Amino acid sequence: MIRLTDLSFGYRNQPLLFNGLNLSLETGHIYGLLGKNGSGKTTLLKNMVGLHYPKAGRATIDGVDTAKRRPDLLSRIFFLPEEPYIPDHTAKAFLETTSPFYPTFDRELFNGYLAAFDVPERRVLTKLSLGQQKKFMIAFALACRTKLLVMDEPTNGLDIPSKAQFRKVLASAVDEDCCIVLSTHQVRDLDNLIDSVIVLHDGTVKLQVQLDQLTEQIRFGNVSGTAVASALYGEAAFDGTHAILPNPERISSKPDLELLFNAVVSDSGILLNYLAKEEIR
Ligand code: ADP
Repeated sequence: MIRLTDLSFGYRNQPLLFNGLNLSLETGHIYGLLGKNGSGKTTLLKNMVGLHYPKAGRATIDGVDTAKRRPDLLSRIFFLPEEPYIPDHTAKAFLETTSPFYPTFDRELFNGYLAAFDVPERRVLTKLSLGQQKKFMIAFALACRTKLLVMDEPTNGLDIPSKAQFRKVLASAVDEDCCIVLSTHQVRDLDNLIDSVIVLHDGTVKLQVQLDQLTEQIRFGNVSGTAVASALYGEAAFDGTHAILPNPERISSKPDLELLFNAVVSDSGILLNYLAKEEIR
């Protein structure tokens, strides 16, 4: 559905951030785009949705270049920036002016999301707290039911209960016809929420994988003693070494996204070489 093909992009008078980057995303998935601060997540997402224009290569949705910004395509994409613009409007006025751009907008769903997020509906939006403003925009973004929903750092600015609400609401919003992309540098926020991981590092996609396939090839667990030597990656902790291990016995384990991310961006390359051999990257 979404293809970034040989995409190159750099800001004016700056070296290229991406040089020949390739990425394919499909509907029916929630992707987590992971990367350190400054790794280019926002820039990549803006290329994806047609807010930045590639210097070379293409970003397409169903074969149409997003950079052309065709209205029929834009009505099927929602991009929620990390710090969305909040107009000095009531929710009602906001819906009246903005929802017509999205033919699939569902008012009932929106009301349900606002209730789940505990956001009052009648206040002027700029009078809401920053967290409430963010939740209002997330509720709107989800209720638009666009084919592609991209949220840049959606959990930034949310307190702990709101992060739990976000998780619950998002899980109920996924369907086979849409593709959701969430970026974060706070990897743990996406635990149990995403089914696929994309790690962006040094201007390239270091890893793109479905978590269920990944956990067939590797196993996450705590090890100690001689077992540490067999780890593909490990981090010492008070309760042993948190490790990523080969998984020939196909033992199921819960992926530790932070450990996975650290392993991928570490210099060792052992995990990536192993996965390349197992042909799942
Ligand atoms: P991330 O979202 O992963 O934190 P960004 O895509 O925001 O990363 O930024 C990637 C790099 O591009 C950073 O070095 C940042 O300083 C730079 N950058 C971002 N926006 C601009 C801009 N408008 N002009 C020039 N450089 C920019």
